[in-house]
Amino acid sequence: MTFGFREIQWFTNSATYYINENTSDCVGEGAAAQTAANTWNQYSPFVFSYAGTTSSVDYGSNDKNELLWVNYNTGSIASTICWYWPESGQLDECDLIFNNASYLWSTSSTPPADRFDVQSIALHELGHWLKLLDLYGDNDQAKTMYGLKSRGALQRSLSIGIFKESNIFTIQFLTNNLLTLTTAEIPI
Ligand SMILES: [Zn+2]
Repeated sequence: MTFGFREIQWFTNSATYYINENTSDCVGEGAAAQTAANTWNQYSPFVFSYAGTTSSVDYGSNDKNELLWVNYNTGSIASTICWYWPESGQLDECDLIFNNASYLWSTSSTPPADRFDVQSIALHELGHWLKLLDLYGDNDQAKTMYGLKSRGALQRSLSIGIFKESNIFTIQFLTNNLLTLTTAEIPI
């Protein structure tokens, strides 16, 4: 969060999302991304709800939360782009783009050493949709929100260390304009 605005968050406790299964690197990438979303749903009071396919081939503000592969080098493995209202901090939309130009993708439970696992990367990026930030500490490497990811690696489960101090993660969201704090424990 570069700017000194009010905290950015959803004003609802759910978001629908759409997927364009448009990488030719693997099959089942949509199902893999949905499984990642459902992994968050298991522990978070915020619900990601799959709404169907999209034909979008790039991110853009269109009132649809979308996951898709882009055919240009974004400079990252994958990126989350969100739009929000600066005055209130209300999130309006998030898109997740996977870099299909620079990297190879896999949905295999044993991803090849030259490929990124769709489900693992989606799990991390959807953490950004919940406004969790990247972690870069030496002790953060096993955590979902660790900011550097490796080819051939699987990180399909949520790490208990999302908030290292407490083994509890907190997702803030607003319901009916009242701030609600909800916590959920992540089992070891
Ligand atoms: Zn990240």
